Amino acid sequence: MNGNSMNLVQDTNLEMEEKFKVLSASKSVEVDHKFASGIKLSKVDKEAKYENAVSDISKHYKGVLNALGEDTERQGLLKTPERAAKAIMFFTKGYRENISDVLNDAIFDEDHDEMVIVKDIEMFSMCEHHMVPFIGKVSIGYLPNKRVLGLSKIARIVEIYSRRLQVQERLTKQIAVAITEAIQPAGVGVVVEATHMCMVMRGVQKLNSRTVTSTMLGVFREDPKTREEFLTLIRNT
Ligand SMILES: [Zn+2]
Repeated sequence: MNGNSMNLVQDTNLEMEEKFKVLSASKSVEVDHKFASGIKLSKVDKEAKYENAVSDISKHYKGVLNALGEDTERQGLLKTPERAAKAIMFFTKGYRENISDVLNDAIFDEDHDEMVIVKDIEMFSMCEHHMVPFIGKVSIGYLPNKRVLGLSKIARIVEIYSRRLQVQERLTKQIAVAITEAIQPAGVGVVVEATHMCMVMRGVQKLNSRTVTSTMLGVFREDPKTREEFLTLIRNT
């Protein structure tokens, strides 16, 4: 992360805006079809795959400990490779979850046309450059267009995309696009504020540095008043 992150996000906003227009114009049937696709594994397959991954990663972590000069046979470290493997599997469980499973029964037809905001959703992610955590909060707003999302599902979308190896800019964008694809609102705004352990614990060691990224789509991008209302509400309420 660096001081250019806001610029990066603003540039990618343009490209996202194009996607938003396409999505808004497409029929909901196509969106639903897209959501229904994706490979489904049976529960047994999933468990077998999980066990294989844990055993594989454990072996590698044992190699890491050895390379660090540690004694992997000492008592405190005996189960560390397996524990670490299970931990990293948890931190990346978003790879094994799927937006369509979460949202299928949580999209409602509703005439509500006021801004919906869910703010300060806790977020725990892993920086893909260093594989150390970045931690922060996500605030999301959208202006419904005849469809709304179950409120708890908004937090679930954050969970699915943050529990992966990420960069904050992409995470921000993916959340905005997922909401757009799910309910085709008039607009979406997503703001992520996070502290990156790769900055705090190494390198520049800036203890209080925070990185803010945002994605604005539809009216949140086009209409300064709507955007301002969103930004004011996530700041003060
Ligand atoms: Zn990093």
